[in-house]
This record gives sequence, C-alpha cells and structure tokens, in this order.
Amino acid sequence: MRLSEIYAQRPFCFSFEVYPPKTDAAAVSMRQHVEKLVKYQPGFISCTYGAGGTTQGQTLDICSDILATYKVPVMAHLTCVGSPVPMLLEWLAQARTRGITNIMALRGDPPKGHESFTAVEGGLSYANELVALIKQHEPGFGIGVGGYPEVHQEAPSAEADLINLKRKVDAGADAIINQLFYENADFYRFHEKCLKAGITIPNIPGILPITNFAQIKRITSLCKARIPQGLSEELEKHQADPEATAKIGIEHAIKQCEDLRESGVPSIHFYVLNQSDATMRVLEQLGIRAVNAA
Ligand SMILES: Cc1cc2nc3c(=O)[nH]c(=O)nc-3n(C[C@H](O)[C@H](O)[C@H](O)COP(=O)(O)OP(=O)(O)OC[C@H]3O[C@@H](n4cnc5c(N)ncnc54)[C@H](O)[C@@H]3O)c2cc1C
Repeated sequence: MRLSEIYAQRPFCFSFEVYPPKTDAAAVSMRQHVEKLVKYQPGFISCTYGAGGTTQGQTLDICSDILATYKVPVMAHLTCVGSPVPMLLEWLAQARTRGITNIMALRGDPPKGHESFTAVEGGLSYANELVALIKQHEPGFGIGVGGYPEVHQEAPSAEADLINLKRKVDAGADAIINQLFYENADFYRFHEKCLKAGITIPNIPGILPITNFAQIKRITSLCKARIPQGLSEELEKHQADPEATAKIGIEHAIKQCEDLRESGVPSIHFYVLNQSDATMRVLEQLGIRAVNAA
C-alpha cells in the first residue's frame, strides 16, 4: 500500500521507524520489538538507510522481512550518498521486485570526514532530484521526504529551506515525514508556513520518546533539534536514574502526542530506535491498543 492510500485509510494513523542493527544479537532484539509493535497495527514501518550509504542491502532485507512476516506496509529509506544514478535505479528496481511500495527519498548527510555534501560523479545533489528520478523511472512507489520544523542545519534561512521543501513536493512527494522535535509550537509554526507556501500533502510530526539523557543529547546535537530548557533541566537532574529519566521522557512524549492529535495531524511517526516499550506506553496512553495481545 502506498503512503497516500495509508493516510487516506484512517482519520488518525501512526508509523514506526527502525534502523539496520549492527550485530546478530541486535537483529534478534529488533525483531522481538517489531513483533510487539506490529500488534498496534501501524500504517507502515520504515527502515533507515545507513549514513554514508552503508547498509543498503540491509534496509531492503529488513523491509522485505517485515512485509513478508507481518503483512504491514513498509517504506525503505534511500539516500543519494555514494550512489551514481544507475546504482540508485538498480536499488529501486530491487525494492520494487521485493514488493516494497514506499521510498523515503533523502539526500543524506555528508559522509564521515566531509564538511559538506558533494554529489558523487553521476549522482544527485538534492533530495528533490531523487524524487524526480523515482517519479520518472519507478512511478509505482509512494514517496516520503524529510521536513525540518526547526530548519535544516545547512539551510541559509527558514524561507530557503521551505522553498527547497516545496521543490520536493512539486517533484512528486506524497508525504513529509519530519525530523524529531520536542516543542510542538515549532511544528505548528512550520506547518502554517507550509500551508501558506501551498504545501498541502500530509505533514507528519516525528516523535522520539526520550529514555536516556546521554543518548538524546547525542542525537539532538547531530540533527540540531532543541530540547526545551525545562525538560532538559529535569532530565539532567535525574540522569543517573534510568527509570525517572524514562518517566519524564515518556510523559513529555505523551503530552506532545495528545496535543498533536487534538490539533488534527493525520499521523505521528515514531522513531523507536529498535525498541518498543516507550512507544507502546505512549500509544496505550493515546487509547491505541495492541490487537491479539497476550
Ligand atoms: C524522517 C527522516 C528520516 C531520515 N532518514 C535518514 C536515513 O535513513 N539515512 C540517512 O543517511 N539520513 C536520514 N535522514 C537525515 C537526512 O539525510 C539529512 O537531514 C540530510 O542532511 C538532508 O536530507 P534531505 O533529504 O532533507 O535533503 P534535501 O532536501 O536535499 O536538503 C538538504 C539541504 O539542501 C538544501 N536544498 C535542498 N534542495 C536544494 C536546492 N535544489 N538548491 C539549494 N539548496 C537545496 C535544503 O534546504 C537543506 O539545507 C533522515 C531525515 C529525516 C527528517
């Protein structure tokens, strides 16, 4: 099922994002968590594409496995990093052959050791070009693109970033999946600007429930998301107590999600980090129950 059909199917949807595990033990653990999460009947599960263009094969394997095992729609992430156009097309053909119906089309971050992003020879420079490539050669896919409520870190201004987002939408994206954020007001402001710019495709907030302060500091410093001062202070105070940290983080995520749902967002995309407990607690609090739970 394609993204547009998934979002049209229910008034309120949600999705999960996993990443390719690095070890066999981590793969087993991820599978166990996915097994719990699929019982909540997500609209889709997406799997990231390794930074620097690594794990391409794993992304496809994980998506095919989830699709075959649980019959849940999937979205495979793809970046422009390190791949000339023929390689991108080959990967897309493999995704199609495996029954994957949605692609998250991204430029990707500069590879390790590089200050800025440079396209490989015969490759693409921006995500809007990847969207156009998919539309031209593989028009059967639903296409997601990245959105940045706090503005992409390389963009010279919020306005320039919005123009670039519009390029991706005009090239044929079906939905915007947003970078994680912890202040809903940032998302609402961004969404208003999108509407004013004529961007009307589903604009999906991204939520990562905090369970570990050191980990979230690392993640937010990489993607330049802001943790509100009050929340950051609370987390810092309790950082030596994992249970208290998770309680604070999950309660914040619940408040964010309740408010987002009330505001009428069509869906919420959860960065589950290959875990399930925190996201399940948020879903339960939203009144979303597992089907066939023991
Ligand atoms: C939901 C989500 C999932 C992600 N998953 C992955 C993943 O699986 N693997 C991974 O490696 N990374 C992933 N990322 C991170 C992403 O690759 C980085 O944020 C990357 O730096 C930008 O990718 P993009 O597709 O948004 O780029 P683009 O939309 O191409 O934008 C990149 C920058 O260039 C500017 N720009 C865009 N188009 C133009 C243009 N035509 N002319 C001039 N400037 C332009 C933009 O304003 C922005 O500053 C994800 C991000 C999000 C939000």
